[in-house]
Amino acid sequence: MITLKDKLSHLSYQEACKLLGAKGKSLIIEGGKYDVDIYDQVTINDNYFELNLGEAVVGISMNPEKHQQLDINCSLCTGFCEHKGAAFALIGEMFSAEEESEKTVELAGAFKAKLLDCLEKGDDGELKMTIAIQDEGMLDNMAQSLAKMVGARI
Ligand SMILES: [Zn+2]
Repeated sequence: MITLKDKLSHLSYQEACKLLGAKGKSLIIEGGKYDVDIYDQVTINDNYFELNLGEAVVGISMNPEKHQQLDINCSLCTGFCEHKGAAFALIGEMFSAEEESEKTVELAGAFKAKLLDCLEKGDDGELKMTIAIQDEGMLDNMAQSLAKMVGARI
């Protein structure tokens, strides 16, 4: 069965806007202004998402009777509000970051495979790396990337 996390992570920006009515887009922008501490103010599990904004608490759950459609509630307001917008702004941030890191992991795997191709064991048992470089531009790119990597660690 699909979990709420799955559902939210696949929610596009357009879909999120639609869920918040005609002014969805501006509500999400307004909501994005809240300063939220994910660890303190957000609860998420397989069935329920909660964002505690202090002045209002927004809850999101799936409705099994309506094809797992998302039910969004605000403890303060009855209609569409910026609190609900804040919840979707946050969900967008949370899951786009996750996607990014998945991509990085995938990319790292691909690089590792490539690098392994370049490794050769010398007569003395030491691993040596041989890289065929097509042109000097590529060498520049590589040098820059390496510099960035080292810079990021410092
Ligand atoms: Zn509200």
